[in-house]
Amino acid sequence: MQCPYCQNTESRVLESRSTEGRQSIRRRRECLNCKHRFTTYERIEFVPITVIKRDGKRESFDRSKLLRGIIRACEKTGISYQRIESLVDEIEVQLQQNFEREFTSNEIGELVLKYLRKENEVAYVRFASVYRKFQGIKDFVETLHQLQNEDNTETNSSKTWKKSNQPESPTPVLDF
Ligand SMILES: [Zn+2]
Repeated sequence: MQCPYCQNTESRVLESRSTEGRQSIRRRRECLNCKHRFTTYERIEFVPITVIKRDGKRESFDRSKLLRGIIRACEKTGISYQRIESLVDEIEVQLQQNFEREFTSNEIGELVLKYLRKENEVAYVRFASVYRKFQGIKDFVETLHQLQNEDNTETNSSKTWKKSNQPESPTPVLDF
């Protein structure tokens, strides 16, 4: 998406909202070069998407199911409903813009996690716990370590995972 002011192609999405009954998506962007803000409208061509479940069964992609899962993961995190809707829009657009028309529930789950990771750590771990079918505390610890390692590699900083950042007990996370 080219910046109308300086033609730079790198921009950051500040806000996105679907319009016209989700036929198009309105995005508020900020140019990474000149910091000007601009709005884009992107048409979405909705082609049915097939989800391949863990047991091998196929069903058509169900947006409301995805929405419900994310709402549950975001409970009491302070993330607004509007923000959640916009996340679901982004995820759906990602799927729609892919050349593939079939996704495993695994691929969709990982995509959701990619978005939740940027949004909220609690929501991320909750979603991971359900979708990756956590069996016990070991799985939580592994996911937290993953989160930490990804943080370190991405920001390349010496940020350490402070003890106080860790959940005191896994109970709230298990309370789905
Ligand atoms: Zn620009």
